[in-house]
Amino acid sequence: MNTHEYQAKEILRKYGVPIPDFRIVRNESEIAEAIASLGVDEAVVKIQVHAGGRGKAGGVKIGSSRSQIEALAKSMLGMKIVNNQTGPDGIIANEVMITPAISIAKEYYIGCTIDRKNACASLIASPEGGVEIEEVAAKHPEQILTLPFDLHVGLRNFQLVRLVKFMGWEKEHAKVGMKIAKALTKAFVDCDGDLLEINPLVMTKENEIIALDAKLSIDDNALYRQKEIAQFYDPTQVKESELRAHEAGLVYIPLVGTVGCMVNGAGLAMATMDMINHHGGSPANFLDVGGSATVEKVTEGFKIILDDPNVKAILVNIFGGIMDCKTIAEGVIAATKEVKPEVPIVVRLEGTNVAEGKKMIQKSDVAVITAEDLSDAAKKVIEAVK
Ligand code: GDP
Ligand code: MN
Repeated sequence: MNTHEYQAKEILRKYGVPIPDFRIVRNESEIAEAIASLGVDEAVVKIQVHAGGRGKAGGVKIGSSRSQIEALAKSMLGMKIVNNQTGPDGIIANEVMITPAISIAKEYYIGCTIDRKNACASLIASPEGGVEIEEVAAKHPEQILTLPFDLHVGLRNFQLVRLVKFMGWEKEHAKVGMKIAKALTKAFVDCDGDLLEINPLVMTKENEIIALDAKLSIDDNALYRQKEIAQFYDPTQVKESELRAHEAGLVYIPLVGTVGCMVNGAGLAMATMDMINHHGGSPANFLDVGGSATVEKVTEGFKIILDDPNVKAILVNIFGGIMDCKTIAEGVIAATKEVKPEVPIVVRLEGTNVAEGKKMIQKSDVAVITAEDLSDAAKKVIEAVK
């Protein structure tokens, strides 16, 4: 789950990361009071949306008088941004941050993420901040330092020393930099984060290191124990299809390919996506209907998948373990009749009563292609895409 910049900043501030003062406004009537209480004549106005790249999209602007700041804040309330992080529909900003303008001498990147390959957490840092870190990683990998750390131990002293050397921080700056890195890693672990980043962390012209931006996204599986962060859930920032999946109790992850995938269980989803890739296709999503592939869930699942205009065919790969294949076949037939998908559907069933389930689909008058096994299903669905 994602959070807003101001929410991530509040958390980081509690851990001792230097954060500039700010106010959040939600409607025009709050703007003047917010500027007055900040007591500044120069401020940065920033839309609060669950996406980065706001600067380039015109969602971060400096006002150099109170009236200018006010005008900027007014124009940004309700502003819609569309970029590669928001998807084609874009996201609307219902909240705007007003924060004193800082004169920047240098921008850095510092963030924590999960290193799945090495099964640990990592701190990632770069003296080239402000831009997208993926860009730095691609063009100047030598400008990125990765420090893996144990969740219970955090960064070791020798790693902190390496970090400040790499960033070029000396004396007082080295102390502050170490403090920020420790605070960041602790907040990341405490919050069950999957990403916590400060981009940019800046050196001001007054020689202070402070965090100008913050981004926190946490592991959904930890929401049950992250009660405070769970309250930050903002449905206005979530894509329509994800919202519907959330409400129907389905796990839906949109991807960029052309094969819609409906599966039960995350492991089977992984195997399905691997097999599609293996045969030269690309999955459009990952939709997990869970242990109970009921007519309602399969129907809602089809609707969500078909909402994506990139989907050219659907692969239903369901294992009838707890549920029997006859019930799943019934669900697929009923859902197909209701939704009437215009794209081909390939179904691969396996498990209890598989022969009967397949027969039901073949005998029904729905245009569903049945497959023998997973490999056969992947080949058939890729053929169908073409
Ligand atoms: P993002 O584009 O969504 O990542 O938004 P950021 O908060 O990172 O802002 C984008 C850029 O605007 C930063 O990299 C800074 O260069 C600039 N910026 C943000 N806040 C300030 C500020 O207080 N003062 C100045 N001078 N620039 C700022
Ligand atoms: Mn940023």
